Amino acid sequence: MATTAQLDDFMQGLIRRNPGEPEFHQAVYEVAQHVLPYVAANPKYEREQIFQRLTEPDRIVSFRVCWEDDKGQVRTQRGYRVQHSNAIGPYKGGIRFHDNVTQSILKFLAFEQTFKNSLTGLPMGGGKGGSDFNPKGKSDREIMRFCQAFMTELSRHIGPFTDVPAGDIGVGGREVSYMFGQYKRLVNEFTGVLTGKGLSYGGSEIRTEATGYGVVYFMEDMLARQGDGLKGKRCLVSGSGNVAQYAVEKLIQSGAVVLTVSDSSGTLYDPDGITAEKLAHIKHLKEVQRARINAYLDTYPKAEFLPDRKPWGIPADLAFPCATQNEVLGEDAQQLVANGCRGVSEGANMPSNKDAIDVFQQARILYAPSKAANAGGVAVSGLEMTQNSMRISWSRDELNQRLRVIMRDIHEKCVRYGTGDDGHVDYLKGANIAGFVKVADAMLAYGIV
Ligand code: NDP
Repeated sequence: MATTAQLDDFMQGLIRRNPGEPEFHQAVYEVAQHVLPYVAANPKYEREQIFQRLTEPDRIVSFRVCWEDDKGQVRTQRGYRVQHSNAIGPYKGGIRFHDNVTQSILKFLAFEQTFKNSLTGLPMGGGKGGSDFNPKGKSDREIMRFCQAFMTELSRHIGPFTDVPAGDIGVGGREVSYMFGQYKRLVNEFTGVLTGKGLSYGGSEIRTEATGYGVVYFMEDMLARQGDGLKGKRCLVSGSGNVAQYAVEKLIQSGAVVLTVSDSSGTLYDPDGITAEKLAHIKHLKEVQRARINAYLDTYPKAEFLPDRKPWGIPADLAFPCATQNEVLGEDAQQLVANGCRGVSEGANMPSNKDAIDVFQQARILYAPSKAANAGGVAVSGLEMTQNSMRISWSRDELNQRLRVIMRDIHEKCVRYGTGDDGHVDYLKGANIAGFVKVADAMLAYGIV
């Protein structure tokens, strides 16, 4: 069995080989703590060094992106695509535009994506890409020119059987469409090379909603296992982008009471609960007006805006971090637990740091890690790829049902690999091992490649 000393040794080697990449170290540690002991108990994986090989991405492409802003000034950004593993299918994972994007962040996201995609049961490898381009405050034409410049280089490295990117932070339907338009122009092919496209040009119903809905479905399944449900539960949601909006929508439909959303400027707290009508207003603010979340107060003055604060100090039953990595720290987790929070389902990727996860696990509350809870988005992306290949479109109902089944299957896999002798489910352990096994078995079959 792998010991703490073996885990420490493994992590020291990883840190030495990948200096200055704290997010990548964090993501690997999160998986290694469970997979190393599992590998030690299953020598076929150890002999072939499968996990060690999985901590090295297949390749990383890094490139210059030059574009011209509205004032005619030349701007230079850095673009990346981390192709982590194509053991079980073409590389698949989103593109992030945010000024804090680094190679470390994209390596952590691509690593996580490999395990997540495996959990969906669909044939997709893991990848992630992006740029340190900051879309905030840019005009529509600036966004278009940047997306075109970015895709001009990226197009050499992707393809429907090679690598199929999607959206992520700062990349929604508008950006995906600009990139798809440029790809189509460059290669003169209409193929499903990106997912998250508009419905009239190869997009899939439910893709926009899938990540947020899936995060709530996963919580529903965790609660159901304890004979409980979402109705009447007070919920904290962070973020107000794609994932947050549709997590809120599904929570409202499920009879829960959503108290907060947020953005990088602070938290919006509505003690009366965010209704469907209020959510429609939030979507308009964010997607049409591209406003900050505190603009909500102009229409609903009874709500409160807490500048520079995260939602985690407000008493509630359930928490759904849906903004960004490391947004829930140890002290946030302690506050949540002290206030009676019983469950956390992660919409964002790696939103809880190690200290926070330790607090949740020691308190034995329901904790659904992102690689399981937010896999619904990439799952419907996988279904978009299938529809593109078959040149058909499934209905909204059919896709929602498929999403529901996939989330239930992921929950079952986590229970299968994560249930302890006392019946308590460690969803993080379950997700890590279940995600690993499928990829590892494919790697064993390929030999040393
Ligand atoms: P969006 O760009 O639509 O929304 C992101 C939200 O998070 C915004 O409200 C944004 O606020 C906030 N946010 C971003 N960065 C920070 C930060 N550093 N500090 C505080 N708030 C921040 O992105 P998505 O909703 O698509 O993605 C959210 C998370 O979900 C990410 O972790 C992403 O990787 C993950 N995810 C997304 C999937 C998808 O299908 N879209 C699939 C699986 C995971 P502001 O506008 O002020 O920046």
